[in-house]
Amino acid sequence: MGCSSTKPHLAHVGHLAGHQYDVIVVGGGHAGTEAAAAAARVGAETLLITQKIHTIGALSCNPSLGGVGKGQLVKEVDALDGLCGRAGDWAGIHFSILNRRKGPAVWGPRAQLDRQRYRDFIQSELLSTPRLTVLEGSVEELLVTEPNPEEPGHHRVTGIRLANGSHAISARSVVLTTGTFLSGSLFVGQTTSPGGRIGDAPSSPGLSHTLRERLGLRTGRLRTGTPPRIVKDSVDLSLAKLHLPDSHPTPFSFLNTHTHCKPEEQLPCYLTFTTPGVERVVRESLQLNCHIQQDTKGPRYCPSIESRVLRFPGRSHQVWLEPEGVTSDLLYPQGLSMTMPPDIQLRLIREIPPMRRAEIHTPGYGVQYDFVCPTQLSPALQVKSTQGLFLAGQINGTTGYEEAAAQGLWAGANAARWALSMPTVTLSRTESYIGVLIDDLVSRGVTEPYRMFTSRAEFRTSLRPDNADLRLTPKGFEEVGCVSSVRYQESLRVRNSLQDALTALQALFLSTSSWKKKLPSVPISETKSTLLTGLDLLQYNDVTFEMLASAFPESLSSYMEFAQRLKIEAVYKPHCDLNKKEIERIQREENMSLPQDIDYFSLPVSLSDEVREILDRVRPSTLGAATRLEGITPAAVVNLLNYVRVTE
Ligand code: FAD
Repeated sequence: MGCSSTKPHLAHVGHLAGHQYDVIVVGGGHAGTEAAAAAARVGAETLLITQKIHTIGALSCNPSLGGVGKGQLVKEVDALDGLCGRAGDWAGIHFSILNRRKGPAVWGPRAQLDRQRYRDFIQSELLSTPRLTVLEGSVEELLVTEPNPEEPGHHRVTGIRLANGSHAISARSVVLTTGTFLSGSLFVGQTTSPGGRIGDAPSSPGLSHTLRERLGLRTGRLRTGTPPRIVKDSVDLSLAKLHLPDSHPTPFSFLNTHTHCKPEEQLPCYLTFTTPGVERVVRESLQLNCHIQQDTKGPRYCPSIESRVLRFPGRSHQVWLEPEGVTSDLLYPQGLSMTMPPDIQLRLIREIPPMRRAEIHTPGYGVQYDFVCPTQLSPALQVKSTQGLFLAGQINGTTGYEEAAAQGLWAGANAARWALSMPTVTLSRTESYIGVLIDDLVSRGVTEPYRMFTSRAEFRTSLRPDNADLRLTPKGFEEVGCVSSVRYQESLRVRNSLQDALTALQALFLSTSSWKKKLPSVPISETKSTLLTGLDLLQYNDVTFEMLASAFPESLSSYMEFAQRLKIEAVYKPHCDLNKKEIERIQREENMSLPQDIDYFSLPVSLSDEVREILDRVRPSTLGAATRLEGITPAAVVNLLNYVRVTE
């Protein structure tokens, strides 16, 4: 673990004239950094172009990573050799597993981060990645071919043009990851100004123009916001409830056995609550707050304080006071995203007891931006009507670093494969949260900022944070090419050891009375079958692998490093066995592809006009994706299935 010190691959625009890249990634946020690194790992000569090199890997809002559903995404990005898990282990200053009272399938690994350390790690990784060059600049236009007369409406991307119109750089594929910058506007009180984030200009209008006017893509508008940053010394933390991290920090990355921050060096967070005064200030200032008056949809699950008090009047709302870094003088008040004028923001926070004398360092603000309706993308995150153009991150209507990173990795790997004339690859919702995320986006689209939850994954008992390596690392190495040989070899060692341990547990086949003698402290019910394996017994709440290993050291003690994983495997085995049939059905349907040029309106099968219209608009790439579309009836699916069978 650590920041590398290899010679940086920084380019100057003057050196790039006439150069052709395999992949150009536009944007150095969470999607762009994973996309660029993944494309380079797959073997593509890659250029990352971003507005400011020093903001690469910036955490625009909360300095934290992971959480329920989101932590699963971080583990999966890591299993595919992405950056964010290792960056989180390097930069984390407060680690906790959320949802610990529930089963391990829905545990949410989360860390509060040191902003500067996170950025440093990502920048140092990128600037030392082989085949990856970084260029500071703003992309103004996408270069695309005229539509192919044989395939009307179909373009091919050929590169980009930088702002000021002078430099064009060619590439076989381009990944756009412009975040909240596409036609971005910032809002504070009644003031609106162009911007993608505070201190950063929006993407040039030329980019939106290419997407909408040249390529004919449908776009929409969404919004989000961020809280004011508070001067730490001005807050009386003795009036808030202390919240300690886990005493043993759990690393995100499969490659790390420990985090950079020592357990005793972790910083606490604090919990406080809003008072009726907060609601009063919000209500009194509504007419001074442009952002909140607009119809544009904001993040439902991370709402502003204005939305919270208006939706739930009379309630007291949680506010977490979180450190921004080891040496930072600032606190991040999670739950207080707001867009009223700065003087009213100060009045509002001073209604909360620990902040009665607080000072604001930077006021909160809102941002509204364009997104591209993601049903126009294939499951490889390629724009269906433009060969070689891939989109990832907030531009697809999602919110959150983890959602962006997951899409970025997949789009970058596919952009590289496309550029190198290899078939693109997809991830199923039966094998990963990344698959769920992408399938939801491309099949159903978004009407509000999309964030991940464990409830979105129907097979969450199989898609656990603890087994992301088993599910994805072999595929990442063998099929995608984005995983290093070192990680792959280590994952094989772990997989084989786990399999051997499970076999050894199953080979311990004893009568209940023999088990009682071996483990006298465990209440084994006589009504259970008279013969039980070690694996059966490990499913008991009060049986640990350590207990079994001390009873049978000769067969089990060599697997002690996997004690927790084996316990979880044993507990979930019955659920996973039950899921197996359903997973196989979905995988069969996902292998049945629906040609992209079908004329759904003249398809000679019985489908209602409404169903034909939906299929024509979304153009699902497989039968499985069609079954999950809103408005598609079971009868329509059967008719489609018959059609696919006949044409296969
Ligand atoms: P970003 O991280 O925004 O990165 C985009 C990158 O593209 C930037 O580096 C930018 O400089 C670069 N770029 C843009 N246009 C060009 C161009 N034309 N040429 C070159 N480079 C370009 N998420 C939550 O989960 N909860 C929240 O409450 C929340 N609040 C937010 C509040 C604000 C004010 C902002 C700005 C973001 C908020 N987010 C929130 C969103 C979170 O920051 C994003 O989801 C995440 O950063 C998206 O990652 P991304 O890579 O898609 O885009």
